[in-house]
Amino acid sequence: MSADAFRQTAGRWLRAGLASPAVYPLLRRRAAAPPEAVSLLMYHTLGDDHERLDAWTVVRQRDFLAQVRCLREHHDIVPLDQALDDPPGSSGRPRAVLTFDDGNASLLSHLLPLLEREALPVTVYIATGHVETGEPYWFDALMAALQPPLAASLDLGRWGLGCHRIGHADSAVNWLRISALLEALKTLTPQQRSQAVEEVLRQAGARLSPPAARTLGPLTPTEVAELARSPWVTLGSHTHGHELLDQVPLAAALHSVDTSLQRLEAWTGQTVRHFAYPNGNHTPALVEALRASGRLASAVTTEPARARTDGDRLRLPRIGIGRYDGIERFRLGLLAPLQRTGR
Ligand SMILES: [Zn+2]
Repeated sequence: MSADAFRQTAGRWLRAGLASPAVYPLLRRRAAAPPEAVSLLMYHTLGDDHERLDAWTVVRQRDFLAQVRCLREHHDIVPLDQALDDPPGSSGRPRAVLTFDDGNASLLSHLLPLLEREALPVTVYIATGHVETGEPYWFDALMAALQPPLAASLDLGRWGLGCHRIGHADSAVNWLRISALLEALKTLTPQQRSQAVEEVLRQAGARLSPPAARTLGPLTPTEVAELARSPWVTLGSHTHGHELLDQVPLAAALHSVDTSLQRLEAWTGQTVRHFAYPNGNHTPALVEALRASGRLASAVTTEPARARTDGDRLRLPRIGIGRYDGIERFRLGLLAPLQRTGR
């Protein structure tokens, strides 16, 4: 067969294949959602539309609203308790839950007004330690300190982390550099990490960018209570110290979860039954200890998949959404694979 004849034959097969009714179900299988499917989306916080912040965790308000409109084309956005406990609605549409991690101050200034205006239910997972002290966690302090116009080469050879060049790049590239530094620091022990973070702040001159410090700073206990009073907000815990729970002893991990639940309940007068593992890190022993405590109705990870209400409710996956996810990438994220059933 000549090359031309081969191309013509292959083209006919391809067109016939794509036109075949048998192919469409295959293409759609990934997009189809059984009634048990729930897309849990993981955000961190929102920021101004026109402020330059090189931080994946800060989504512009206008982008967030575009994503909500896109999501509502095919999903019902529901509160977490409704997604977990109620049967799927009569609309027959898959359900989605919006979640926000950490407890940055901009949740009150930039998210809460949108919730009321858009009738939008969300779950907010608060790490209570930085709320209590008013001091940002190490990663927020670093993100705030490494914003433009800073341009520096940070030497972390002492910890085997090499040299990290920050600045002198467009926003997405600079974020990749900041993110690579944060991920490298996460591999250190908590004690090494706090020394390395101090060294980074020293080398960077710790010039806090005021907008970043405001956006990435923590809520106060009064503001957490104000957020929790909104009928659109479900409150959840995100530990007390934002520890990576697979890097600390089991007893310390459980103590951190318990402390945060106590603080949130004291500040808000509400019962808190939901939890998010910081960075998604967890161990089988921790999951089983939390299950045995009977204290939690759900716990979420950062595994990028769609959750199932008949899956393990203490290991619900979430699809992460950040500042650099355009609408096409957002749509693709919604096609993440389904959580496996069983434990
Ligand atoms: Zn977190």
